[in-house]
Amino acid sequence: MPSQARQSRNPGRSRDTCAVALTLVRDFRFEAAHTLPWHPGKCSRLHGHSYRLEVTVEGEMDERGVILDFADIKRLVTTFVLDRVDHTDLNGVIDNPTAERLVAQVGDWLDEAGLAWSALRLWETADCSARLTR
Ligand SMILES: [Zn+2]
Repeated sequence: MPSQARQSRNPGRSRDTCAVALTLVRDFRFEAAHTLPWHPGKCSRLHGHSYRLEVTVEGEMDERGVILDFADIKRLVTTFVLDRVDHTDLNGVIDNPTAERLVAQVGDWLDEAGLAWSALRLWETADCSARLTR
């Protein structure tokens, strides 16, 4: 019945008390080069990527109605991640800079920054990404 289909799954509970997961997602981009000497194909040669980093922050809304100001996410990611990797040779930043190892390093840097991220996704190409979740 259409009228029942529109009813809340939790009748009697307001939106403020309903247990839902609310997340913020902000995207960042950076350019970097790397070499994967162990790779059997052309990734063993020096090449670059236009990386895309998707940062997800989960939390409760505060009295302002926000989890965290998007500008604060940008400031922390810029300082703790982008300033370290943008326009660099990643092999000089971390050993064996695969997408998997790089996203794990980004997680450590954002922990150092005190950012309460819940998921990170690092896109190496339009089709290939590594995702880290807590
Ligand atoms: Zn590559």
